[in-house]
Amino acid sequence: ITSKLPNVGTTIFTQMSQLAAEVGAINLSQGFPDFPAPVALCEAVGKHIALGHNQYAPMTGLPALREQVASKVASFYGRSVSADSEVTITPGATEAIFCALQAVVRAGDEVIVLDPCYDSYEPSVELAGGRCVHVPLALPGFSIDWQRMTDALSPRTRMIILNSPHNPSGALISRAELDWLAALIRDRDIYLVSDEVYEHLVFDGVGHVSVLAHDELYARAFVVSSFGKTYHVTGWKTGYVVAPPALSAELRKVHQYVNFCGVTPLQWALADFMAAHPEHLAELPGFYQAKRDLFCDLLADSRFRFTRAAGTYFQLVDYSAIRPDLDDVAMSEWLTREHGVAAIPVSVFYREAPRDLRLVRFCFAKREETLRQAAEKLCAI
Ligand code: PMP
Ligand code: GLN
Repeated sequence: ITSKLPNVGTTIFTQMSQLAAEVGAINLSQGFPDFPAPVALCEAVGKHIALGHNQYAPMTGLPALREQVASKVASFYGRSVSADSEVTITPGATEAIFCALQAVVRAGDEVIVLDPCYDSYEPSVELAGGRCVHVPLALPGFSIDWQRMTDALSPRTRMIILNSPHNPSGALISRAELDWLAALIRDRDIYLVSDEVYEHLVFDGVGHVSVLAHDELYARAFVVSSFGKTYHVTGWKTGYVVAPPALSAELRKVHQYVNFCGVTPLQWALADFMAAHPEHLAELPGFYQAKRDLFCDLLADSRFRFTRAAGTYFQLVDYSAIRPDLDDVAMSEWLTREHGVAAIPVSVFYREAPRDLRLVRFCFAKREETLRQAAEKLCAI
């Protein structure tokens, strides 16, 4: 067979989690919590299965869950969206992004992505017949380089993918940056995918800047989130898209033939839990900030250098004081095999990584005990 994705291998998340399991390393590579999801949320799944909620959900998602998302959007971002025509529940944010791209991108279209970028974007663009134009974020802070962004625009640009809070750096987009973007694309036929799966993991009292709070950008955006990150259930693969009615309608045309619908009892459980536990969202930033701070405080005694992540559950560290001779892929493997802590190299999220990049990513969505054990190993290097 002639591959449609000749440059795609097995994702780094699978590779590193497999290696960690093989050598018995503490797995701080692939992003997922090692602590349990809320008991009430898990019990609700069993309850709804017992109640017989085991057949197809509506294609657009369970109404009760779409209502919860709409009311969350109103209270967090001040936007009133229609649960019927603007909210779609999907089997994970990954499927949402894939469907948005399939719905908009045509053969020959260009999609601007900001490197380092999440690894599902480019194959999804290519399967739609499009081509990614990679704009590197400016180091050291991973901020948008507006000159390069402007230079990247062409008459073929059809879409721009934003990701804030940003995986892997934890960097945040600001309101001023959204305004600049709006001005840049004002008179052009360009759409946005705004990947906001870490919207509730923003620290130091800063608050998430959502495209949902920006009238002009929302008019052309698919805003994507994931219950997996927010409710500690990455394995449930349940997410959603909020988009204006015309865009939602196009997205749904694709979604209905990619998956049709998400898993029914999980949607019931999430709807119940969101209604009964609004405090979960309010507590989440503090919960993860404490984990970030514990991990960073422990690593202060190591030879890794870092700036604390502003958001997400990932911490980047610079290892140039330890093994400057190793590139980040070799470093991640060395950390996993020789020191028992698995990490993710950052260069894999670039089309062309800076040659002197010496950064790896650790996931701190872990129990205190896990973070202490990992830090002990990392401080001994
Ligand atoms: N986007 C980003 C930036 C992510 O880190 C993830 C994490 N897996 C996803 C999308 C996909 O989320 P989901 O697991 O809900 O498909
Ligand atoms: N988003 C997760 C991460 O960045 C992994 C998702 C996956 O394994 N596909 O680690």
